Amino acid sequence: MYDSSDQHVLTKASTKDQKSVVLTFDDGPSKVLPKILDILSQEKVPAVFFWQTKLLYEQRPWKRVLDEGHVIGTHTINHPNLQKLTYEQQYKQLASSKAKIEHITGQNVTYFRPPFGQYNNETIQAAKALQLTTVMWRIASIDWELKWNPHTIVDNVIENLEDGAIILLHELKQTVDVLPILIEKIRAKGYTFSLI
Ligand SMILES: [Zn+2]
Repeated sequence: MYDSSDQHVLTKASTKDQKSVVLTFDDGPSKVLPKILDILSQEKVPAVFFWQTKLLYEQRPWKRVLDEGHVIGTHTINHPNLQKLTYEQQYKQLASSKAKIEHITGQNVTYFRPPFGQYNNETIQAAKALQLTTVMWRIASIDWELKWNPHTIVDNVIENLEDGAIILLHELKQTVDVLPILIEKIRAKGYTFSLI
């Protein structure tokens, strides 16, 4: 559970009249992206993808991501710990990655997630200067550590569900393997899926 009192970052989405949560996938576009899109399409679930632009080529299925109602945000160029960079270096990571996604997709990028969830005041200032909303999370699935124990990914999310929670996932094989059951169990708890 990520508990932040920082008013400058989002951990929860504003929800209207029904319980809902937001799925977010970091560190793509990866080779399992088409499988994630297949599952989300079948289940009619929207999601937010935070991409490292060193992995983003014209040939990646970015158009499918957008056509199917998902949102692409930036996760920097190459995933540095932003706390270790100067303001200028941080600004470049955000500006360059935002510009690359916008150049390829033709769509405005408005969301940013800091690598490792690490940021400082200068990160927030750089994001604001670029009209980027900094998005953290409320529930970490810890999927990156659970290659051999993927059902714990599901437990980590289900045990911490709450209205509006932004859920941290990654474009990883183990996450794909449990994604259908994760969606099913979230729905069984009475939640729908929304965007930020
Ligand atoms: Zn990441």
